[in-house]
Amino acid sequence: MKTRLGLDIGGTTIHGIGVAADEPNTLIAELTHPTRKGAEGVVDGTAEMVEALLVRLPPDAEIISIGLGVPGIVHAGAVTHAVNLGLDGDPLDLAAALSARTGGVTVTVENDVKAATLGGLQWLREQGSGVDDLALLNVGTGLAAGLLLNGRLRHGSRGMAGEIGHLVHDPTGPICPCGRRGCLELYASGSGVRRQWPGTAAELFDAADTGDPDAARIRDELISGIAQAISLLAYGLDVSCVLVTGGVVSATPALREAILAQLGKDESTSLGRLAGISERVRWLPAGHPAGALGAALLGAADEGVGPWRS
Ligand SMILES: [Zn+2]
Repeated sequence: MKTRLGLDIGGTTIHGIGVAADEPNTLIAELTHPTRKGAEGVVDGTAEMVEALLVRLPPDAEIISIGLGVPGIVHAGAVTHAVNLGLDGDPLDLAAALSARTGGVTVTVENDVKAATLGGLQWLREQGSGVDDLALLNVGTGLAAGLLLNGRLRHGSRGMAGEIGHLVHDPTGPICPCGRRGCLELYASGSGVRRQWPGTAAELFDAADTGDPDAARIRDELISGIAQAISLLAYGLDVSCVLVTGGVVSATPALREAILAQLGKDESTSLGRLAGISERVRWLPAGHPAGALGAALLGAADEGVGPWRS
């Protein structure tokens, strides 16, 4: 059975899966390991995850590709700016290093949010959607989008397509780890909420509803920041779907309703009605393994198999 492996390498854990090449919706192996940091740690940890998945696969499984999603900038096959993995120095050719450890299997490395976009498209297809262009907006620790335009993942000239979290939202705001002030992700992300509020987003909404002025301000900035990110993607690219994912959004129904209400206000004008941005928004269900699934599908995209191309 031809099998693809997909590994979503996060700052805390690696999520690895195996899927049959002709039936990618069914996971035939799944594991989670702690992430190891630094160039050597990442290569060793990734190779160990592959070995651990191999022993859980059916005996007739034949690995035809391995895909890796990493939280950094991937350009010309090399990983840079993966601060959460302890890789902020020399570019790391993770594909070559892992391929050498796995008997020469084809390895594709991609930015994690871009890889998850393939997983998001696969989910939309399962739901009966025929879209072949979408933006996947990941409201996670950071804020970033993956772009799939006319079935092709957009990398950009420097591998930075979709990195919208560091647009300046408020030039008088706090200093961002990137060095600028008031970046969008300081307001519209999980870390943006944690930076300002000790509880969950649901508790933030409860406190705002009971009259806490700080909670109301943080809540309103979260709503308007995510709505702005969705509008930016819809107006800038005119994609037919903006698929939103991330723990803050999936765990907080009141946030999803408030974002749609905010977008709806823009539809009181004729241009806003023409844009119809709220109609384009879909929410990826909590727990959907889009990151690892998308990583597994990178090999299919490289081969031109399926509704996408790399
Ligand atoms: Zn920033």
